[in-house]
Amino acid sequence: MDSLVKRVLARSIQADAISDIPMTMRNWGIVVNKQEQLGDRLPSLMAELQSPDLDQQRQRALNREAYSYLIAPEVYYKASLMAGLSGLFLSILQQYDLQPKDQKAIEKLAQFYSKSGARKFKDFPTAFAKFPALLATSKTQLAITKDILGRSKIRSSDLDGHKVMEAGPFKVINTGGFSLDVMKTCATVVKEAARLLSAKGLSKVCYGEILVSNRVNRKKEILAFYLPSKDEMFIRADLKGHEHDALGTMLHELGHRLQEKFLNSGIKKSEIYRMYRVIQGGHEAAEEDAINKLLEDPATAPKVGDIVVDPKTQTELVFEKLGLRHGKLSAYLHLKDEPVNPSNQISVSIKGWYQFRGVPIDVAKVGGFVSNYAATDPDENFAEMIDRYCQNKLHPTQVAMLEDVLK
Ligand SMILES: [Zn+2]
Repeated sequence: MDSLVKRVLARSIQADAISDIPMTMRNWGIVVNKQEQLGDRLPSLMAELQSPDLDQQRQRALNREAYSYLIAPEVYYKASLMAGLSGLFLSILQQYDLQPKDQKAIEKLAQFYSKSGARKFKDFPTAFAKFPALLATSKTQLAITKDILGRSKIRSSDLDGHKVMEAGPFKVINTGGFSLDVMKTCATVVKEAARLLSAKGLSKVCYGEILVSNRVNRKKEILAFYLPSKDEMFIRADLKGHEHDALGTMLHELGHRLQEKFLNSGIKKSEIYRMYRVIQGGHEAAEEDAINKLLEDPATAPKVGDIVVDPKTQTELVFEKLGLRHGKLSAYLHLKDEPVNPSNQISVSIKGWYQFRGVPIDVAKVGGFVSNYAATDPDENFAEMIDRYCQNKLHPTQVAMLEDVLK
């Protein structure tokens, strides 16, 4: 369990994080100790360094001493140890049962140490000037952490029975004492992804472990992710209510594996790139098509007096007419409850107006990018297409294009 947690943390914060809690605490203690020594010595050291009749030899010796003291706090604030400490707090969150108040405190510390580089010293004078505040902060933080660890318990290992759960060709791995319920939800999503991929002849990407992990990655919205350099897959533990999106994300991430492991030749790369360019080329026309369909349908065509709300300003806007603005089809609107005259008239693109109305412009249906995200680059487009393809939601022309690449 311990090494697994280490693996998850190290990977997900993309650093060789230390997640051996006792060892990291010990090292942290040593650093703070060194800092305290410097705190005691600093005033006399500085005074002597600034004295006018200091000979060169003595000055060199003092500089050496200052440097030796400063190494500790400097190293302490170097990115690697910062990541180590952020790893420490994440490990504590994962391995300990914490009171809500303690959990908050540890989360705050994890945040403090995740801002990499923000507290590096420019030079020795800056370091000396900031030192007293730094020392006070370190001491407090270390004391708080020790305190919390002293009164908290490591999560019980009565969950050993479902550390590993079979999910079709995958193994779903419990990395943080998650409940049977959590594991089952993840396994269901993973199994369904395997089923859909196999139905399209892509079972070759369905292998290995999928690590169930806390939201260690900073982006909230990420439900699953793939680390190409390690060929490792993660799925988030708190999926309840997001199973559908998680399935899509899982398929998307396995699409990255497909490309990385099985379609990585120069020829395939250029085919994936070309597919992106072709879709990009037709995207604008597809968008026009999709908008025309909305304009033709009486249910979605704009009508004089229709009210929309601008989500940014929360102002209510009344539809007047369609017109061309800078050659683009636009909706002319005026503010609700204001006299109708050119001075309070505004126009938004017809696309923007449909967005205000919350009417989706389904470009995917007419052969454009399957999502805004797919437009990012050829790789993301490929992964997004794999997701839609497996869920039978891909436009026929794109199915043909994709199947050509998959051949
Ligand atoms: Zn992606």
